[in-house]
Amino acid sequence: MMFLLSGKIAVITGGGSGIGLATVKRFAKAGAKVVIGDITDQTQLAEEIGGLYIQTDVSKEEEVKFLMDKAADTFGQIDLVFNNAGVSGMKGRVTENPVSNYKRAFEINSMGILHGMKHAAGHMVRGGAIINTASMLGLRGDVNSSPYVSSKFSVVGLTVTAALELASKNIRVNCICPGKIATPMVNWETDAQRQATKLIIPLGRYGTPEEVASLVHYLCTDEAAYITGQAISIDGALSMGLSVEA
Ligand code: NAD
Repeated sequence: MMFLLSGKIAVITGGGSGIGLATVKRFAKAGAKVVIGDITDQTQLAEEIGGLYIQTDVSKEEEVKFLMDKAADTFGQIDLVFNNAGVSGMKGRVTENPVSNYKRAFEINSMGILHGMKHAAGHMVRGGAIINTASMLGLRGDVNSSPYVSSKFSVVGLTVTAALELASKNIRVNCICPGKIATPMVNWETDAQRQATKLIIPLGRYGTPEEVASLVHYLCTDEAAYITGQAISIDGALSMGLSVEA
């Protein structure tokens, strides 16, 4: 594998499923020590990869602080952080959607990322890279999805601001904006919906979690040493076109 991460200490939230899980496996294979923070039990996964699992609800600041402190206490410091845990759903029109949906979206998708950056940065004494998971819907709107969309726009804002503030410590901060990725998060879609969606994706298919993990991996290496403060799309050009060639 290109881009070895030997000797790097990585913390990955939402590492138990989908994009996070693919990244945990990829980072472990590349030689990183991986600390998984997830709300669901990932003890077995941590054993399989020779890493560490800390039960963490990213919406709770004290739990994320514990995750980062424990990672640094155990392995000496933190080099790489993938703030990836997130939830979707919370559907409804702006005029009807209950405020509780916005609270849930913001507490997990936005504050979860804020908590991760806030409590990891002090442990990144060798510099390093932080990657936050935003979404294509952190750059574009979507009907019936305003809690998710607004929480993901906020991830882009947090990312670019943190990149400016942490640059002098040689900590690069970027976010990724996935389009349609085949993970459990999109399991609610019917086959008919999926077929219809594929027709408007220029590459004609959903992305895989492994393809997203590959981007995260690249951004974490010195190959990306001059890339910071960016929102990087990985969406098969779904967000770029008004039409698709028939
Ligand atoms: P997933 O549902 O497969 O995985 C999400 C993981 O996050 C799970 O392991 C879950 O247990 C964990 N999690 C949920 N709430 C948590 C909390 N409060 N604290 C800690 N862990 C929590 O989803 P995925 O598709 O892999 O999504 C990962 C990220 O990618 C999310 O931020 C999501 O918004 C984003 N994203 C996904 C897609 C897509 O099409 N799948 C597109 C754009 C963005």
